[in-house]
Amino acid sequence: MFAALRRWFSGWRLLGVLAFLAIMAWLALRQLPDGRLHVYFLDVGQGDAILVQTPDGRQILIDGGPNPTALLGEMNAVMPFWDRSLDLVVLTHPDGDHLTGLLAVLDRYQVARVLDTPQTDTTPLAAAWRERLTEGNIPRTVARRGLRIPLGDVMLTVLHPSSKPLTGTASDENNNSIVLRIDYGPTSLLLTGDAESEAEADMIKAGLPLQANVLKVGHHGSNGSTSAPFLAAVTPSEAVIQVGADNSFDHPAREVLKRLMDARAEILRTDINGRIEAVSDGRTLSMKVSRWPTVTGRR
Ligand SMILES: [Zn+2]
Repeated sequence: MFAALRRWFSGWRLLGVLAFLAIMAWLALRQLPDGRLHVYFLDVGQGDAILVQTPDGRQILIDGGPNPTALLGEMNAVMPFWDRSLDLVVLTHPDGDHLTGLLAVLDRYQVARVLDTPQTDTTPLAAAWRERLTEGNIPRTVARRGLRIPLGDVMLTVLHPSSKPLTGTASDENNNSIVLRIDYGPTSLLLTGDAESEAEADMIKAGLPLQANVLKVGHHGSNGSTSAPFLAAVTPSEAVIQVGADNSFDHPAREVLKRLMDARAEILRTDINGRIEAVSDGRTLSMKVSRWPTVTGRR
């Protein structure tokens, strides 16, 4: 038997096995915590899905996009292949382009906790979400303004909605999206879900800390979001738009692109740039994309 084993592992085959092991080790090491904050804006088509990996290796998924296959493929690409657990899953609001993929995630990943929208929709999709949370016995925290979730050296803060949900807006569902801010040292990101101008005005009025290096542009670049006063408060140097190629909504709106350019923000879009990554070492922040070029911007 040992002779057979020795024969099997001899020569080229042994080299092949070693090369395979080296590649697997390299892939594994590449995806291990590296003391930096990584925020991946996943390329999932017309919808939002953002994976956060903290410097000490905690993983948070914010929304799941419209397509489970696309989401799981993207998560496999940025997470270690053996890793099937998430520390936190956030649902900003119960629209299909944010929620659909999360159902597949609850089926396939061990989820330690959910930060849930306070919205109680009665759609079959929202019902399926709540059913999965109950069946899986997943601890659930309902988001409200002021909630702070420390993740090692990184702080996650809920800026919106307040305890008094907005009503009578262009879209109450969008305007009560969970808005999150992520701080790591002096570097920061603002993730606005599908919040529209009414939610933006509410956050400005509340005097919340809105300034951030990276703005995840609200509602896929729809003209109802990313108002000039909001941009003046955020002053982002980087603007990320999660949007599907040739989508039927004509997102992002030309007017929003113009406002972002006027605000001198570099515009990165998942339909053009593929997966977009923000990396911070707690002092400076940089952006990576899987496809160049950008449509506009300073680079
Ligand atoms: Zn959306």
